Amino acid sequence: MYDIIIIGAGPAGLSAAIYARRSGKSVLVLEEKTYGGQIVNTPNIENYPGIAHISGFEFATNLYNQAKDFGAEFKFEKAVGIEDREDSKLVKTPKDEYEAKAVIIATGAKNRKLGIDNEDSLVGKGISYCATCDGMFFRDKDVAVNGGGNTAVEDAMFLSNYCNKVYIIHRRDEFRADDKDVERLKEKDNVELVLDSTVSEILSDTDEAGNEHVSGVKVKNKNTGDERVLDVNGLFIAIGQVPDNEDFKDIVELENGYVKALEDCKTDTQGIYVAGDCRTKSVRQLATAASDGAIAAIAASQEV
Ligand code: NAP
Repeated sequence: MYDIIIIGAGPAGLSAAIYARRSGKSVLVLEEKTYGGQIVNTPNIENYPGIAHISGFEFATNLYNQAKDFGAEFKFEKAVGIEDREDSKLVKTPKDEYEAKAVIIATGAKNRKLGIDNEDSLVGKGISYCATCDGMFFRDKDVAVNGGGNTAVEDAMFLSNYCNKVYIIHRRDEFRADDKDVERLKEKDNVELVLDSTVSEILSDTDEAGNEHVSGVKVKNKNTGDERVLDVNGLFIAIGQVPDNEDFKDIVELENGYVKALEDCKTDTQGIYVAGDCRTKSVRQLATAASDGAIAAIAASQEV
């Protein structure tokens, strides 16, 4: 029996692990993939208080090591359900079951898809959701980024350092991303903004060996209805995130897929807390994820 099980090893979950361990509680962190969550894909963090510049990967690694050094236990298994028992919660994974007095859900969010027919089949063949992971495959080539938030603008900036040409396709004429980053991107000679436009089709070619690969994207201007083909080898999709909490819908209340809780991070189910991007909240940032982790862990530690 653990005191606290934390589901998710992103910034919220890892911050929660640090605070819970420092409160003297036994902690198990369950993570489906690898530690760090989405921040590992951010090339450069400049807005975390007290740290002028750091890569997302380095930040996540520091946080993971900090949680481990404080004694948090990690298991890389996906939590697929929580059972409410009289005096405890049972967290189930495909491999095992783990019991705790309290649970903190910190599952973050996953990439939103465009929903275009051949999007899934072209992942790894020109379609990517992670510029820092896959950008190097497109050195000296032409690529497009779709999206208008911080991720898309950062991705386009990162790719512009390696690629011949980068188109950034956004459905409006104003970016959601921070002005400072947008202005910096506009200064790049090899970046072209394709605004008021959406991707209507992903084009592909098949080579002699039978390998299919992206050969272009068709974009449609929403004002004029004009369509244009961008001859690109890669499309980086960065159109935001969606929550992934369906496994917990029977035990906590969800609102548009997010776990419902106020700033105290307490769900309506006693003993279950929620932290980070998976919570109903208005500002989803690294700093607010860390803040949620601290709040949830302190509240849970006082209860168990
Ligand atoms: P986001 O801020 O939600 O932006 C998503 C973008 O995709 C928006 O511009 C949106 O357009 C567009 N979009 C959404 N659905 C679309 C669709 N179906 N088709 C075409 N375009 C679509 O997502 P994000 O950029 O991934 O960022 C997520 C959170 O992480 C944000 O809070 C962001 O600030 C934060 N973040 C911070 C940093 C940093 O500070 N270094 C880095 C990355 C991310 P509209 O604008 O028209 O809605």
